[in-house]
Amino acid sequence: MASNPNQNQVKAKKHLGQHFLNDESVAERIGDTLTLKDYKNVLEIGPGMGVLTKYLLEKDCTTYVIEIDSESVEYLQANYLNLEPRIIEKDFLKYDLKEVFNYEPFAIIGNFPYNISSQIVFKALEMRQQIPEFCGMFQKEVAQRICSKEGTKVYGILSVLTQAFYDAEYLFTVLPNVFNPPPKVDSGVLRLTRKENYTLPCDEKLFFKTVKQAFQQRRKTIRNSLKIFNLSDNLKASSIFDRRPEQLSVQDFIALTQLIEKDI
Ligand code: SAH
Repeated sequence: MASNPNQNQVKAKKHLGQHFLNDESVAERIGDTLTLKDYKNVLEIGPGMGVLTKYLLEKDCTTYVIEIDSESVEYLQANYLNLEPRIIEKDFLKYDLKEVFNYEPFAIIGNFPYNISSQIVFKALEMRQQIPEFCGMFQKEVAQRICSKEGTKVYGILSVLTQAFYDAEYLFTVLPNVFNPPPKVDSGVLRLTRKENYTLPCDEKLFFKTVKQAFQQRRKTIRNSLKIFNLSDNLKASSIFDRRPEQLSVQDFIALTQLIEKDI
């Protein structure tokens, strides 16, 4: 079942969130979550030893990979000769990708490093103009959180901010035994498809700020959590302020932002 020759294998580094997939069929299924509609370029984050990359290279797209670990990069350079010019040895969170793709669209995919899951999503959201699709695997709880609707326990900042711009689908669950080393939690694969109209009808910066602030205290009313905005009593009397953030849909948060915008 192992996909790579033993003598060349990279030993997993915990601080880099390395859990290598050792089941080819799962890697293939993850690769197949890409629809390849409306883009030619695909960026895989954290290819490791290339178990997923191999399937991407068979597809009708141009695959780039970004990997922080030099040992994994050496392995890829030695084993995936065609990929060589498109291996980026950088930290995804810090590297400016706009020019790599010459401002063209690209999709993101990966069996992501779980220790930086939320940060990967936030960075992708910042680059949403260039990213029509985002597929891949997170720890199950994070994948569920991203896809969940208002009124559920896991609904939060990631859910609202992602779903403001993308349709989110939870696709399937992956158990720990197909990884080396096995993670302590189950994993979940999702697909995010950018909405046709992904410009919000409100101040987008203020929207991010409002959502983040509202969820600082998820059990409290919006009125309480948004005190730092110094809103007028008149505005705060509106019934939306009686509600808790977990009860508000994306549309509600947009409406709330529009109200705040007028007030401050
Ligand atoms: N896709 C491979 C490896 C998954 S483990 C597989 O399925 O087997 C996660 C990978 O992300 C590791 O290779 C790790 O080195 C890499 N990684 C961790 N942090 C990163 C970062 N900030 N930028 C790019 N790659 C990173």
